[in-house]
Amino acid sequence: MTPRDNKKKVGHTAQPGVFKECTMCGKKWSTKDEFLGDKEIRLNGYQWNRNKLRSGEELAGLLIFTHAKAECYTTLGVEARSFKVPSRARQ
Ligand SMILES: [Zn+2]
Repeated sequence: MTPRDNKKKVGHTAQPGVFKECTMCGKKWSTKDEFLGDKEIRLNGYQWNRNKLRSGEELAGLLIFTHAKAECYTTLGVEARSFKVPSRARQ
């Protein structure tokens, strides 16, 4: 019961070495840390995916960010599981 084929694209193109690309201004973040550390990135909220929740996936949903940059201010959705941290992550 793993709907792997149910891949949802949220207006971004998957590129090697690119964690996220702004669909509006084209800015790229190569890693998760770079993305989260960007002062122009603001967390906006969380959007559940009920279908995935039912199928038993833990982190089913999207984190909604705003690229708070002049002349951009677009909304970026990142799959929550992209932020999943191994439970035994170093400190
Ligand atoms: Zn942008």
